Amino acid sequence: MPRFKPEDLRQIGYTLFEKAGCQKEDARAVVDHLVESNLFGHDSHGAIRFYEYARAIREGRFQPQAEPQVVQDKPCMAVVDAGGAMGQVGATFATRLAIEKAREQGVGTVALRNTSHIGRVGAYPLMAAREGLIGQIFVNAGHLGYQIAPFGGLDGKLSTNPMAFAAPRRNAEPVLVDMTTSVVAEGKIRVALNKGVDVPEGWLMDANGNPTTDPKDFKADPPGAILPMGGVVAYKGYALSLMVEILGGALSGLGCANGSRTMVSNGVFLNVYHIEHFVELEDYYDELESLIAHVKSSRTAPGISEILLPGEPEFRSAERRSQEGIEVDDTTWETICEEARMIDLDPSEWDDLKN
Ligand code: NAD
Repeated sequence: MPRFKPEDLRQIGYTLFEKAGCQKEDARAVVDHLVESNLFGHDSHGAIRFYEYARAIREGRFQPQAEPQVVQDKPCMAVVDAGGAMGQVGATFATRLAIEKAREQGVGTVALRNTSHIGRVGAYPLMAAREGLIGQIFVNAGHLGYQIAPFGGLDGKLSTNPMAFAAPRRNAEPVLVDMTTSVVAEGKIRVALNKGVDVPEGWLMDANGNPTTDPKDFKADPPGAILPMGGVVAYKGYALSLMVEILGGALSGLGCANGSRTMVSNGVFLNVYHIEHFVELEDYYDELESLIAHVKSSRTAPGISEILLPGEPEFRSAERRSQEGIEVDDTTWETICEEARMIDLDPSEWDDLKN
């Protein structure tokens, strides 16, 4: 399994996406996002998407030259149509707009449609939190609803429908909640398939509704389905998923998880809150830090060394992987190389970067 320094993996990505048809700065936005996903430990949203996005551009499903347009603009809200642009480009544009509005008005809400896959959805609230604001995002997958069974159902009818939230801390990384409303991201089933390993119990059922740990059952014909989040109370994951469909799909104008499966797109609904419009900034920080100390003071269960905050696993993984490098499984690497050859790049030129 090849391992790369983050800067080398970025360099490979820049070359691939520029050759695929992205402008230089858009290639950087896409690749920096994907490599950060690997650093954060979310390989499901990292280099595995190099070949998926490059292929989608080659097949005309993503429009790398498209530029997001504001189609509705009010003091506290806007609607952006990305015209099929790369997801990271569309979602970054929408987040910048929501931050600007929140700084002026206290709250900025932006709905985004017709953008391609935006990747790790927590990246966008995190942008707001890094600038001292609170961010929140709800993301559906347009009409591509066939991965998650509704509570009590056997058939995939919804997408993984993630949502994320980030809040700044005083002198520490933000609290970062970034999660699907299904048990797990669909990309993690793909990572298991590429690695040829089973998934944990409780993630999947086969086409007949039997529990399975074989990721191939998910992609079989007829397919299996991922379970909604929540275990014995999975109706709560299902309920949140419907909420995400309504905000990300119906309110963005992209559409919900029904209809034909032609669209390769995320529907996005993003809120940004400017803290000082609500309370004194120092009071907010005092309150948050004392909440965190209170939560972390809990005794821990056997086998658990420490209470973590949402986001801490990702920030710690980033520190570790920045030093140790990023492993890319063999199937993913070979598929990236195949896609590179399709657009007349010579991937053997990258051999020296592997270690
Ligand atoms: P996950 O289950 O690994 O993590 C979910 C959340 O739980 C994170 O905020 C994490 O910090 C937190 N967490 C994990 N362990 C913890 C612990 N011990 N204590 C406290 N908090 C803890 O993530 P996931 O739901 O499988 O999602 C993976 C990624 O896939 C996310 O980045 C998500 O945005 C992305 N995704 C994107 C799309 C899309 O359409 N663009 C769709 C689905 C998922």
